[in-house]
Amino acid sequence: MSKKTKKANQFEFKTDVKELLNILVHSLYTNREIFIRELISNASDALDKIRFESNKGTEIFQNDLELEISVKGDEKENTLTITDTGYGMTKDEIIQNIGTIAKSGSAEFLKQLSEDKEQANNIIGKFGVGFYSVFMVADKVEIISRSYKTDAKPIKWVSDGLGSFEVEEIDDDIKRGTEIKIHLKEDSKEYAEKVRIENVIKKHSNFVSFPIKSGDDQLNTISAIWREPKSNIKPEQYNEFYKFQSHDFEDPFHVIHKAIDAPIQFNALLFIPKKNMDMFGFNRDNYGLDLYVRRILINHQNKDLLPEYLSFVKGVVDSEDLPLNISRETLQENIVFSKIASTVTKQVLTELTKMAKDDKEKYAQFWKEFSRIFKMGYADYANQEKFVDLLRFDSSANDNKEQLVAFAEYTERMKDEQKDIYYMTGSSRDALMMDPHLEIFKRKGLEVLYLYDPVDEFVVSSVNKYKEFELKSVDQVDLKSLEKLGDSEEKKDKAKELSKEDSKHLSSLFAKMKEILGDKVTDVKISERLEDSPACLVNSDNTMSASMQKMMNMMGNNETIPPKIMELNKDHKLVRNLLKVFKSDSDDKYIADVTEQLYESSLLLEGYLPDPHKLVNRINSMLEESSNWYTEVKKLD
Ligand code: ADP
Ligand code: MG
Repeated sequence: MSKKTKKANQFEFKTDVKELLNILVHSLYTNREIFIRELISNASDALDKIRFESNKGTEIFQNDLELEISVKGDEKENTLTITDTGYGMTKDEIIQNIGTIAKSGSAEFLKQLSEDKEQANNIIGKFGVGFYSVFMVADKVEIISRSYKTDAKPIKWVSDGLGSFEVEEIDDDIKRGTEIKIHLKEDSKEYAEKVRIENVIKKHSNFVSFPIKSGDDQLNTISAIWREPKSNIKPEQYNEFYKFQSHDFEDPFHVIHKAIDAPIQFNALLFIPKKNMDMFGFNRDNYGLDLYVRRILINHQNKDLLPEYLSFVKGVVDSEDLPLNISRETLQENIVFSKIASTVTKQVLTELTKMAKDDKEKYAQFWKEFSRIFKMGYADYANQEKFVDLLRFDSSANDNKEQLVAFAEYTERMKDEQKDIYYMTGSSRDALMMDPHLEIFKRKGLEVLYLYDPVDEFVVSSVNKYKEFELKSVDQVDLKSLEKLGDSEEKKDKAKELSKEDSKHLSSLFAKMKEILGDKVTDVKISERLEDSPACLVNSDNTMSASMQKMMNMMGNNETIPPKIMELNKDHKLVRNLLKVFKSDSDDKYIADVTEQLYESSLLLEGYLPDPHKLVNRINSMLEESSNWYTEVKKLD
């Protein structure tokens, strides 16, 4: 090719690209062959786009060119060239597309990559940085490209992948599309060998929907396997297709293959991956199903076929009933499309329901990996019934947090007279098990669901019912409703009943405590729920659970603590002793100390206490005092 330069131009790669390249160029990865997959996948994207434009009736340079990809190794020159007849790039486009990393989160991606290099090959294709993987094997890359736009100029782009690239417009007669010539590093010569190239392509790019040619041979089997009957397809084919389609390196966790005929025809081949690929939380845009119309890709990673809470599902949907020239913009308003979308969503939920029923262990695995995101489905009111059935929780009836309980199991074994499903929210199983609010439920033998995930709070408040049973937080339960449920544990060595007179003193003591706490509490009263603990706080306004309230406060940046009711265990040793102190001197400072302490300890348990200094100081001085008594009692002088 002659090189009549019109205007040479040198550009620096953006900083994050440089960093990425630096890692790729200087590290030796196993499995470097995936760069071929990445380049072929870009070529295939470029061909998809040209087909799409052509269907729309856009004017296209050399519109009757065969849509294909070709590969050619040259062992003498030590090069590999990959060519496509796709939509090509103009000078501005190549500067924009190759030279910057457009996707958000690239910084975080780089961080992960530099921390765990082993992961590089596995994640590279998933983050829109596939092209750069070529520099694992290349010490120079030349790109010649001619855009499909009729008035565009061909361009030539060259880079050694170190810090900059050159790009210029050229005058040559160039076929539409892109040619990428890779000058291989000494240690990567193998990728100039015909057999090696062909094997890699058969392995990673078999499902590309355009012919990939090596000389006169076509290397891939172009088949839309989602269109074929299930019985024709072997598990290996599903696995292979999944890996090709998702750039995952592992087999899928679960395959869903459906052919739907009524009311709208479509085929769906969907996969649940083994791992949540958004585990770093920064791969937000990398989801969606590929939408085909009559085997032609219309929209890569369509975000409207599935709701976000099912965004971990990968795969393709292909329909006969959509027009080929539908634009991506009008898809959303298309009624056929929205029917397909709602059916696909239902299919996925039905499949999960089946898994939960037929293979509990598998479902538990699914839950472990995806429950976080799945629970965001609380807002999908159209499918709430199915959604609710799929929820799983830890429970007071479990031995450990790995065991999971569904609402169905809970209600099957609940007491006959029980009308509500009880739950508690908190930071961990251990914290919940020791929470004073749980004590009466333990005594009554009532199962309580343990919720640890912040999103659970929204799930229970928006679901709020399972069948006819209401979901109730333990701190919202009306204790009278528990009375008729009978005790299953004997009350532990009951303290002596208070005399009439002492009961009166106790009321005065409580009044005193209320005075000490001021407007932090609306009431101080005898508790019906406590067994082992001396005190706890409950909401005075019973409409919201304490942790929901806390969350609302946090979101509204509001640090005020709503007034609470303090409940005291009248049979607790501490309360009885306090009563003695009170009877001898109602203004004893010890009463104020203990009252403040009980209040703050309870707040601490509820996760409210913003500043622990006072609490710690008070504990320290009380410890000091008690150490005096202790040494006296033990006669340690
Ligand atoms: P991604 O494919 O995820 O966008 P890549 O790093 O693989 O990320 O490619 C970057 C961009 O470069 C592509 O989005 C595309 O715009 C452009 N590109 C790469 N290869 C080609 C090609 N063969 N034809 C046209 N454009 C291409
Ligand atoms: Mg790519």
